[in-house]
Amino acid sequence: MSKKADLHVHTNFSDGTCSPQEVVKNANQLGISCIAITDHDCVDGIEPAMEEGEKLGIEIIPGVELTAEIKDEEIHILGYFIDWKTDWFIEELNKFCKLRVERITEMIKRLEGIGIHIEPKEVFELSGRGSVGRLHLAKIMHEKGVVSSIYDAFKQYIGFGKSCYVKKFNLTPKQAIEMIKKIGGVSVLAHPKVMGKDEFIQDYVNWGLAGIEVYHSDHNQANIQHYKELAEKFGLLITGGSDCHGLAKGKLLMGRVTVPYEIVEQLKEVAQHK
Ligand code: AMP
Ligand code: FE
Ligand code: FE
Ligand code: ZN
Repeated sequence: MSKKADLHVHTNFSDGTCSPQEVVKNANQLGISCIAITDHDCVDGIEPAMEEGEKLGIEIIPGVELTAEIKDEEIHILGYFIDWKTDWFIEELNKFCKLRVERITEMIKRLEGIGIHIEPKEVFELSGRGSVGRLHLAKIMHEKGVVSSIYDAFKQYIGFGKSCYVKKFNLTPKQAIEMIKKIGGVSVLAHPKVMGKDEFIQDYVNWGLAGIEVYHSDHNQANIQHYKELAEKFGLLITGGSDCHGLAKGKLLMGRVTVPYEIVEQLKEVAQHK
């Protein structure tokens, strides 16, 4: 049987619900040979995942998912095969995580302003270590009965551009791609259907983007076809992953989107030439 990989997985070091060990166990049970740990602005889940991966024979790609903003659009850049122990990079991520706390605090204030009370402590207790994000806030809003689902929280209040949405920290895609390059990583544009505009892709490529996430849980067949064509047009690697957040979005997405192991080899090849 040919080897399969999932190149987009979150742990509870960001907004996933599974520990790194659980994530690796899930991959093992689903017959996935290789997974990339891509937490938002955090690399602390990589080492425990690697330790578990050693035990179970699952290959772990050290990765990260950085949030960037361009012309009032939010996009996510995935970094693969990063030198994740690099001091300055960890310091940058720590800064991002502090800013995330301030941002969520500000969003809670905005919610308060429209009569929705959320206890900050509850959100931060839920997120625990690593990076806090809107998914944690959405979960607490749902638990409180403020919204009918976590999706509703985004749709009504905290989604991009909604009344209680607060911008992140103005990292540009160019800076994100350059950061990843500096730590030997390969940059890939995450879920292009969900975020960003096609017209910006040429710029990303000029700045060093190497791949595009063609296969993703939120992409339908037409999206896949479209982004495959764009990958060809711009000479980008075609990658994919489930973007599994454990049970944070209701169901376990791991196993639903995988790519052949050849894609991992292509990413490695690019990383080695950095
Ligand atoms: P943050 O990093 O705080 O900006 O939160 C981004 C995360 O929120 C994404 O990675 C998703 O997990 C989640 N998210 C963003 N938009 C939505 C949405 N419309 N529905 C569900 N989850 C979303
Ligand atoms: Fe997320
Ligand atoms: Fe993302
Ligand atoms: Zn993600």
